[in-house]
Amino acid sequence: MTDLLIRNAAEILTCAADAPDGIGRLPGGSIAISDGLIEAVGEVGARRAHKVIEAAGRVVLPGFVDCHTHVLFGGSRVEEYAARVAGREPPAGAPVGIAGTVRETRRLSTDALVAQALPRLGEMLAHGTTTAESKTGYGLALEAELRMLEANRRLAAGTPVEIVSTLLAAHALPEDMPRDEYVGLIVGRLVPRAAAEGLARFCDAYCDQGYFTLEETQRVLAAGVAHGLAPKLHLDAYSTTGAARLAADLGAASVDHLNFTSPEEAECLGAAGVVAVAMPCLDLAVAHPRPVDVRGLIGAGMTVALATDLCPACHVASMQLVIQLACRLYGLSVAEAIRAATLHAAMALRRDKTVGSLEPGKQADVLVLGVERHEELAYRIGSNLVERVIKRGRVVVER
Ligand SMILES: [Zn+2]
Repeated sequence: MTDLLIRNAAEILTCAADAPDGIGRLPGGSIAISDGLIEAVGEVGARRAHKVIEAAGRVVLPGFVDCHTHVLFGGSRVEEYAARVAGREPPAGAPVGIAGTVRETRRLSTDALVAQALPRLGEMLAHGTTTAESKTGYGLALEAELRMLEANRRLAAGTPVEIVSTLLAAHALPEDMPRDEYVGLIVGRLVPRAAAEGLARFCDAYCDQGYFTLEETQRVLAAGVAHGLAPKLHLDAYSTTGAARLAADLGAASVDHLNFTSPEEAECLGAAGVVAVAMPCLDLAVAHPRPVDVRGLIGAGMTVALATDLCPACHVASMQLVIQLACRLYGLSVAEAIRAATLHAAMALRRDKTVGSLEPGKQADVLVLGVERHEELAYRIGSNLVERVIKRGRVVVER
């Protein structure tokens, strides 16, 4: 007997890799789920089930994968944000920038860090995110970065959202340590610890003007590779760094931001199979002078994924809003944006064998939307269309 049957949906979007329309739209299909996995999609035949969800008049699609977040942080930068939108300098004493958040984060115990992040993850889940990356990078010191890694482990146990942990010790330069010494600490101690204790899947670095140089980035990512942590990169957000070729050479899982990446570099990344992660809410929240040219990246042969970049500078939990902005700001079709928020985002986390599409054998991470057509996802700007969230076959949100 099937555990859960979702039947007679107006549309099922499988988002399967080989779908000719990009989203695998099946009108009027059903999904059979057992043991947390998808048994069958589309025509599932007559079968008995412990639980049935009638999905008539509804769209069913894979849970969203948010492949770039800084969901773990201390304090708030609301004063800075409010000042910036009004064109003013933040008030004296308010936490400003990464350095401000580092001071707030270092103050917190692991438990307090987790307690502040869980409501954010709850909001993400309520908007349909079933898998999320979580980066360190507000510790910028040995103990503080290890605390963030441990917090990621506890988060994973405290929310239905599947957490993918990334070591981003190279997020910014600490104010209290010379840069050479800090890079040595990352390479010699943090990366080996994170890998040995199974606390991270990826090693990330922020290569840009005012952050880590190309040479430092290379050292950090190479250490990650040597210890089995796959590389990711914050790349070219504010200048052309040349790190794109490094990412291609290392076979990075993703490169994120890409506002100043050249077309030739994008071609090189595309040929190497590196996924581009675009974050339209960040471009909006920081009023970026040069929003990323996503159509150019696609034209250069890159697979594009979408993410919130939830962080103190961009307090966005909803992948639905990301899809809406990606369509309008980046010129993606609705189908392209949905695929970028599901299968391609899973590829950016190297989880596409288990999540990101609705196919037999994959994890049953499923959303039921209270609308009849998937295009509503792009059209209803700011609405939450999610009625039900199913994680590993279990209903975890019902609205
Ligand atoms: Zn980031």
